[in-house]
Amino acid sequence: MSKTAIITGGSRGIGQAMSEKLGELGYNVVINYRSDSSKALSEKIAADLESKYKVGTLVVKADVSKYEDCEKLVKATVEKFGDNIDVLVNNAGITNNSNWIDITHEAYERVIGTNLMSALHMTHLVLPHMINHSSKDSQCVIVNTSSVGGMTGVINQADYCASKSGLIGLTRALALEFAGRGVRVNAIAPGMIMTDMLRGVNQDELNALAATIPEGYIGDVSDIAGALAYILTAPYLTGQIISPNGGFVLQ
Ligand code: NDP
Repeated sequence: MSKTAIITGGSRGIGQAMSEKLGELGYNVVINYRSDSSKALSEKIAADLESKYKVGTLVVKADVSKYEDCEKLVKATVEKFGDNIDVLVNNAGITNNSNWIDITHEAYERVIGTNLMSALHMTHLVLPHMINHSSKDSQCVIVNTSSVGGMTGVINQADYCASKSGLIGLTRALALEFAGRGVRVNAIAPGMIMTDMLRGVNQDELNALAATIPEGYIGDVSDIAGALAYILTAPYLTGQIISPNGGFVLQ
């Protein structure tokens, strides 16, 4: 029987690579995006997955910082693919890159809403569609995209680090709560990965930071899609933080 995966922020960057990986692994893929400019991108990813891997797809515009948009996303998924959801990837994320004096409360509330509240909303709404059919032999999996910023301090990223640490706490707590009930919960904490998010910051500062990565280079989205594939196929893995980061943070 076919399995269904939802990915938030699946339109670009790391999310695009993970959407493609989910299709390659044979899931029906529900690709969420927020910006009008990403509609065509998301539809192109979906069309490619359908023709290449013969999986079902659904593209849903939703601002996952809002509970009612998350409800809409889950409802559309269930209407198209049925009551059982097998995988949820909470990937949508933004950053402000601002010092803590000049930042506005609206700006940091957007970061917390997009990066952390979205995962609370989505897990709250999706878990009932997992525990209705999950078992030791038929596992469901939640993967939260955290960050090295969730494991260590990063200058001018206080709100971002708070959101990404929060995702690690959520991951560990839900892993415990649903252990033994066929739902595994893990996080990926990427180091620096070249996407629009990094292209948007000062490139001189970026290059200086990149020079401090022990492996000596900025990672690729395929590094994160590979970590997702590992988590999905590792039945004994739960409550863990997998961090492809080139040695940037040594745990
Ligand atoms: P991008 O900026 O390339 O992509 C961000 C994605 O999030 C887009 O798909 C975007 O949708 C989506 N998104 C943003 N806000 C919302 C929202 N409110 N509702 C729904 N979707 C939303 O970033 P990355 O690919 O780099 O980042 C992906 C994840 O990885 C984020 O959680 C980020 O924090 C994390 N990460 C990234 C690192 C990096 O170095 N790149 C390092 C560590 C973690 P749309 O296209 O519609 O705007």
